[in-house]
Amino acid sequence: MASSQPAPQKRLRISFFSFTCCEGCLVEFLEVLNTKYFEWAPLMDVRHCRLLKGKNVLDEMDVAIIEGGISSQKEVERVLEIRRLAKRVVAIGSCAITGAPNNYRNYFDAKTLEEIKPILERFGHRERVTGIGEVVKVDAEVPGCPIMHPKFIEVLEGYMKEFGVLAPNETNEGEEHA
Ligand code: SF4
Repeated sequence: MASSQPAPQKRLRISFFSFTCCEGCLVEFLEVLNTKYFEWAPLMDVRHCRLLKGKNVLDEMDVAIIEGGISSQKEVERVLEIRRLAKRVVAIGSCAITGAPNNYRNYFDAKTLEEIKPILERFGHRERVTGIGEVVKVDAEVPGCPIMHPKFIEVLEGYMKEFGVLAPNETNEGEEHA
């Protein structure tokens, strides 16, 4: 006998990560939730987001949202692992895209670079701070310092549609965002 129960709501498996940065872009994500929380909460299975959860897991995800530049070998290894586990990777904010403004040390003069060399070696830092795209493939970018809210919403809802969480014709036009 066919069940009359509606199919359970499919949810986007999503994780959020911070690398070398001020973490201002994920704070902006919280600002976006001021208008989007009740709409998005039933649509998202948040696996990892230290801003929102005490218990976080690094496992397979549809989308990884990443802020910050990559400054150390440890961060290289972590972003490679995230890339391995994520179907889509989104770089949010200018430092995830280019490294700037958290790559000041790339432009230090020779004397200053010599002075900081022991620190770089001790903590396993890379020669240069880069955007994540120099280490792993990036599928989408949300520019800004901090991020532009409308673009962030466009990218995230685009993936909700791609992964069958939102219907293709669902639109959120007409809402006001900062
Ligand atoms: S892009 Fe700007 S606001 Fe965002 S994390 Fe980097 S420095 Fe902070």
